[in-house]
Amino acid sequence: MPSLTRVAATERAALLTVESYDIELDLTGGEVVFRSVTRIRFRSTTPGAGTFVEVRPTRLLGVRLNGRALDPAALDDNQFALTGLLADNTLVVEAEMAYSNAGEGLHRFVDPADGNTYLYAMSGIDNAQRIFACFDQPDLKAPVVLSVVAPTDWTVAGNGELAATPAPGRWEFAATPPLATYLVSLIAGPYHLLRGEHDGIPLGVYCRRSLAEYLDRDADEIFTVTRQCLDRLHELFDVRYPFGKYDQAFVPEFNMGAMENPGLVTFRDEFLHRSAVTDAEREQRANTIAHEMAHMWFGDLVTLRWWDDLWLNESFAEYFGTRVTAEATRFGSAWTTFALRRKAWGYAADQRPSTHPVAPSEVPDAAEALSNLDGISYAKGASVLRQLVAWLGDEAFLAGLRGFFATHRFGNATLADLLAALSASSGRDLTGWAEVWLRQPQLNTLRAEIRLRDDGHYAEVAVVQSAPSGHPLLRPHRIGVGLYDLADTADGDPGSAGAGPGVRVRRRIEVDLAPVVDGGRTVLDELTGQPAARLLLLNDGDLTFAKVRLDAGSAAAVPLALPGLSDPLARALLWSETLDAVTDGERPVSDLVALIVAALPAEPELIVVQDVLNRTRPLLDRYLDPDVRPAALEQLAGACDRLLATAPPGGSRQLAAARSLIGATVDTAVLAGWLAGEDVPDGLVVDAELRWAVLRRLAVLGAVGEPEIAAEQAADPSASGAERAATCRAALPDPEAKDRAWQVVTRDTTLSNRLLEANAAGFWQPEQVELTASYVERYFAEMPEAAGRRTPWVADQVAGLAYPRYAVAGRTRELAAALLARDDLPTGLRRVVTDADDDLRRALLSRTAAR
Ligand SMILES: [Zn+2]
Repeated sequence: MPSLTRVAATERAALLTVESYDIELDLTGGEVVFRSVTRIRFRSTTPGAGTFVEVRPTRLLGVRLNGRALDPAALDDNQFALTGLLADNTLVVEAEMAYSNAGEGLHRFVDPADGNTYLYAMSGIDNAQRIFACFDQPDLKAPVVLSVVAPTDWTVAGNGELAATPAPGRWEFAATPPLATYLVSLIAGPYHLLRGEHDGIPLGVYCRRSLAEYLDRDADEIFTVTRQCLDRLHELFDVRYPFGKYDQAFVPEFNMGAMENPGLVTFRDEFLHRSAVTDAEREQRANTIAHEMAHMWFGDLVTLRWWDDLWLNESFAEYFGTRVTAEATRFGSAWTTFALRRKAWGYAADQRPSTHPVAPSEVPDAAEALSNLDGISYAKGASVLRQLVAWLGDEAFLAGLRGFFATHRFGNATLADLLAALSASSGRDLTGWAEVWLRQPQLNTLRAEIRLRDDGHYAEVAVVQSAPSGHPLLRPHRIGVGLYDLADTADGDPGSAGAGPGVRVRRRIEVDLAPVVDGGRTVLDELTGQPAARLLLLNDGDLTFAKVRLDAGSAAAVPLALPGLSDPLARALLWSETLDAVTDGERPVSDLVALIVAALPAEPELIVVQDVLNRTRPLLDRYLDPDVRPAALEQLAGACDRLLATAPPGGSRQLAAARSLIGATVDTAVLAGWLAGEDVPDGLVVDAELRWAVLRRLAVLGAVGEPEIAAEQAADPSASGAERAATCRAALPDPEAKDRAWQVVTRDTTLSNRLLEANAAGFWQPEQVELTASYVERYFAEMPEAAGRRTPWVADQVAGLAYPRYAVAGRTRELAAALLARDDLPTGLRRVVTDADDDLRRALLSRTAAR
């Protein structure tokens, strides 16, 4: 299916002004299709000219342009040509459309818990045309009037306020402010609804009935976070929330975390936790609520002109989502989470062969835009904004944004428009800054170089900036430099966690690194002659986006310093540096495991504990040869055991430790005991999700089979239960189970996006490399055709999850290279394989170096 090109969109935007969309949907026509009638009023600058409208129906029933009936058979793929335009036009398109089971378009879900049917619309980024005929590009915005016919016992909500229910089973919504097509949404079904209100804005939260008890339980927290973030964004932006009501719907089988539809944000309903979660997961939900709300200004009020400026949506939503979470909610350490988790995503993406600028100058089509929803557009972009704030000052930054909203409200904007607003507010020319930070890909490494005098004072402290050979660009960085002293440097024992000496921050300075002077070497003159610190931390405060490498002395002090360092962000940066150096193959995995054993059980910050464990596990599975992996895994399990033993009963730390222990241990007797309620650590509740985690590990290890999985699913007849059961089945060390899962992953089109992912997620296991060896070749042979059976987002997800990531061998890389040499690969699959292969390259290098 063709993806709209930048060129075609530019031409069409020059020709058309869309005045309104009038959309009528009839959702009473059965389980497979629905009826869609769209009336578009639009003007053309050039009467007599032609254009096209997009629609993806199962049957196109009728097309009338200015009263003239056109032949529906003229539909060419998803484009219908329109000729002989007038100055003022009315287009009416009647179509029968298919419900989606892929989360793209109008998704239909039947809840296995109670048989209820739920629908939601996902129009991003070019799926509106699966619901209604439209000019499906972001800069042809228009007010939308929606009306829906649906079963009388349903609830229906759209972007706009409900205007009337003229008859039972008919909902009519008021005209919205101008919306981009990718933001048009609705939900329909017997949804459970809770209402609220804040500052004159009606609030609503929705979920399916089988999750009502979890929404009711958490509604206070969700509404509180919503109110806090609204207030803070109003303070920062000085422009009121512009879309009337603010509904948040938790919907099933949603592909992304959430989608920022104006007035009706949709979230994946895994955010309504049915089992115990850690506070880090509550923070993530709060952050997502804040992120989507920030989009109401960045993306919804002012919309990108074309997908080149995806960063104007995502980088800003990521930045302000994290900022208001940290500033306005109880989750005050959101920037620590950002430093450790989100930036790791950004650093990884920016170092891959597929890297791209934060703000590319030309994204050729919408398919490429979908692939760019990555760690660069989100985390790197937000980091760059943090750097911009450090450089411009917060007041000038915010004043520029207020000017930007005032000029472009309800319209579209580009990078140039943003820079103009920021230049006006700050009086500075941002062209050069934007060129190096936004227009160029890849990242710098900052290394500390230290020379000491005989008396132990600094003779010279320098920061050396470098860049990868293919992208030899150095940048101006404003960074913090922290000097830390150990209270007692004589007798700390890095082996005894929790007993580390106190660590005192002696001084923090902010310095500007000049990129061009002296080959990227900046001498910190103010430190010359100072007593040397035990630990010198570059990028303290995490103001810039760069890899950091400590000097040898500071690196040696890390195990000693970590337990006594009071600033969680500084500790996160030290963990991050270690994880990154191991990922780069500069340090052996054993160093990381040793640091975990020494320092992690004493780490007070939950997010650090959770993320370090989560990031370490794949490094063990992929970077270590099979003969050394079990010993490392045992050490990791030992560290988890100590965490578990020392964690307060019933708290987040205990749960985080238990989950990691379950994933790492090979002691099937202990795990089976937990399922039976034996020897469960005091305070740990082995609830539905934890039971599934245990069962999954037992399945991987071959300690349970189909009877146990079937029994667990019978006891948990929810959608989540079905997904977990599918993952467990795919994870069984059994050739038939692998064959069944592979058939699903590559061929099945009847299962939903979520069940496909569940199968793919269970298939590859580091313990089963030999059993699954034959599927390595099959992945590369079969995936192009398999991807062709799916909508783009799901195709990419499945291709990523099904990649043979534990087949760390030269042969796997040869197969990837052969596939990438083909010129007929879909954009998304090419990106997935390119990136996964690069990850495998690193793992292979590390293994080779260790041999
Ligand atoms: Zn977003």
